Amino acid sequence: MRKYKYQIPRRLLQTGILFVFFGGNAYGWSVLRGNLSSARVFDTIPLSDPFAVLQSFSAGAVIASDAVTGALVILLFYAVLGGRVFCSWACPVNMVTDLANRLRRLFSLDSVWKSWDIKRATRYWIIFLSVALSVILGVAAFEWISPIGALHRGIIYGFGFGWTLVLMVFLFDLFAVKNGFCGHICPLGGFYSIIGRFGFLRIGYDREKCTSCMKCIEICPEKQVLHMVGRESGAVVSGECVNCGRCIEVCDDDAVNFINIYSNKIHTKCKEG
Ligand code: SF4
Ligand code: SF4
Repeated sequence: MRKYKYQIPRRLLQTGILFVFFGGNAYGWSVLRGNLSSARVFDTIPLSDPFAVLQSFSAGAVIASDAVTGALVILLFYAVLGGRVFCSWACPVNMVTDLANRLRRLFSLDSVWKSWDIKRATRYWIIFLSVALSVILGVAAFEWISPIGALHRGIIYGFGFGWTLVLMVFLFDLFAVKNGFCGHICPLGGFYSIIGRFGFLRIGYDREKCTSCMKCIEICPEKQVLHMVGRESGAVVSGECVNCGRCIEVCDDDAVNFINIYSNKIHTKCKEG
């Protein structure tokens, strides 16, 4: 079961979040009402997507104090936790892009044709573009075309044309770029990379246990964060790691594990190195 140690809880949490949102809309459950941009827990604690709030603010909207509080709650939560926990544990699009990635591997599409060459830093430029367009157009620009919002709203309230955005992401990841949308394009993922840069929950790598099979690098959707593998013990310090735990699941040597980066000696070794 090590192979699914994190995959199963991740899928349960992703679908569970959708389920309670759905229940809030369809049956009036108060556990979690609203959507991924703005919600309330038990009709009391506000939760807001901080990137959506930033865009709305840039668009000139007056931000309600609840939305600011909700954005701060989410910011603090992911900043303390670290990495892009939102991406692999909460975002519904992750299930779509993981499926595309699985199909790419199943049909060995990487060996059939070459991925388009898009820089991973593109997502940071799209953050900038989203904010700039929000200022110019007076609307939260990315929210208008976000496949995350489209998929979430589609599942909770029923699909309109939003499914075409989700299909485009799926086809893009399947045929054009490996880990294309989440690993290169999505500004929300990029935003959480910045927020989660200094959080505590990280991947630690022990060179002494590693037999250099490189399975972790093969499976990782953000390979660049594992640059220390095969070279020296250390911890993933980049916020681009989505904390999916896939590298842990595939490692037969117990060389990769979740650690608290501020108390683990592997990180100390890394810093000294
Ligand atoms: S990168 Fe974007 S779409 Fe992908 S999981 Fe993260 S927030 Fe969702
Ligand atoms: S380093 Fe591990 S946890 Fe982080 S993105 Fe890669 S596979 Fe997932």
